Amino acid sequence: MSNFVSGRHFLQTPGPSNLPDRVLRAMDRNVINHRGPEFGALGRDIVAKLRGLFQTGAATIGIFPASGTGAWEAALANTLVPGDRILISRTGQFSHLWEQMALRFGLDVVSLETDWRRGADPLAIGEILQEDRERRIKAVCAVHSETSTSCMTDIAAVRQAINRADHPALLMVDAISSLGCAEYQHDGWAVDVTIAGSQKGLMVPPGLSFTAISDKALAAARAGGSRRSYWDWEPLVTSNRTGFFPYTPAISLLYALNEALDMLAEEGLPAVFARHDRYAQATRLAAAAWGLELQCADPAAYAPGVTAIRTPQGHSADNLRNVILERFNMSLGNGLGRIEDRVFRIGHMGDLGVLSLTGALTGVEMGLRAAGVPHRAGGVQAAMELLTSANA
Ligand SMILES: *Cc1c(COP(=O)(O)O)cnc(C)c1O
Repeated sequence: MSNFVSGRHFLQTPGPSNLPDRVLRAMDRNVINHRGPEFGALGRDIVAKLRGLFQTGAATIGIFPASGTGAWEAALANTLVPGDRILISRTGQFSHLWEQMALRFGLDVVSLETDWRRGADPLAIGEILQEDRERRIKAVCAVHSETSTSCMTDIAAVRQAINRADHPALLMVDAISSLGCAEYQHDGWAVDVTIAGSQKGLMVPPGLSFTAISDKALAAARAGGSRRSYWDWEPLVTSNRTGFFPYTPAISLLYALNEALDMLAEEGLPAVFARHDRYAQATRLAAAAWGLELQCADPAAYAPGVTAIRTPQGHSADNLRNVILERFNMSLGNGLGRIEDRVFRIGHMGDLGVLSLTGALTGVEMGLRAAGVPHRAGGVQAAMELLTSANA
C-alpha cells in the first residue's frame, strides 16, 4: 500500500503556524555579507518594524537565534542573580516551564496557583506585592496568552496592580503566542521585558526569539544580573543603532521576518487582531454547537490565536488527534502538562483564511465522528453563520 497522501497538510498547531507563500519566497535567495551595508539597512529596518509591533517608541530590541525559551533565559540572566525572588502566576504549562527555568537559575520563586482555566489574577498579584514590604520581589512574570489553556492574562491590569502597590519589581511578559495576534502595548502597559518568538503569530519559521527591553530593565541589567556572554543585552544597544549583530545572524530567517512584518503592516494591526478575534469566536461557536467544553472558563480571557477544547470524560483527546491526523491529514495541538490527553487545541493564528479555518473545523467535526467522541453535529454550520455575517 502506498503512503502517498494527496492534498496539503493542514497545520493547525498553535505554533509553528503556517508560513505564507510570500514568507517562503523571501527566504529563497542567497545569504549576504552580514558585515556589509545591505545587511545593516536590513537590520535597522527590522528593528524599526519590530518596535511598531511591540508598540514601543524606544525600547531596546533583542533578536536572538533561539526559540522563544532562549529569550526567557536571557531575561532572567540579564536582570537577576541566584536568590532573587520573583513572582509567577502558574496559569498553564508555559508559566510552569518559566518557573522551572527560574528554579534552575537558583531564583526564589513565589508562585500563585490557578486552575489552568483563567488568566493570572491581578488582585492576588497586587496583594502579594503590597505585603512585600521589604521589596524583595525583583520581577513579576506573566504569560500574556497561555497557549496551553487558551486563556489570556490582562497585562494592563497586572501593571496597575504593581503601580497600586507602588512596587519597583520589573514586569516581564511572555507574549510568544500573542504578539501579532492580540493587542499588545509594551510602552502603554509599561512592560519592562517582553518576550516573543517567530513561529506563532509572526508567520516565520521557528528559530528566532525577540525581546523588547525598557530602559529600567536595561539599567537593572547594567547594574547586575548573572554572568552571561552570548545572551548579554548590552551589545543590543549598538546593534539596534547600526543594524549589525555581534555574531553571524540567522540571515535567511531575517529575510522571512522582514517580509512577515511587511505583511502585518499591509493588513494593519487592528485588522489583524480583529481577524484573529473573529476566527476565535467562530471556533468557540463550533465547540459550543458540538456540546464540548472550552478549557478557558473565563469569557473575558478567551485567547484570539488558539482554542483549547476539552473532550468528554473518558474520551482521549490524543486518540481524537491521531484519528484526525491519519484520516484527514491535519495536525492539532495536544494537551500539555496536567491537561495532557484531556484537551485538543486548534491553532488559528498567523496566516489563515476563512476557508482554512472552516476546513480545519470540518476536519475536527469529521474526526469527532470517526473517533466516536460524543458530540452534536452542526459546529461547522455555526462557524459558517458567523463568518458569513458582514460585520461579525
Ligand atoms: C510556544 C510558547 C513558548 C515556548 O516557545 P519556544 O519557541 O518553543 O521556545 C513559551 N510560551 C508560550 C506562551 C508559548 O506559546
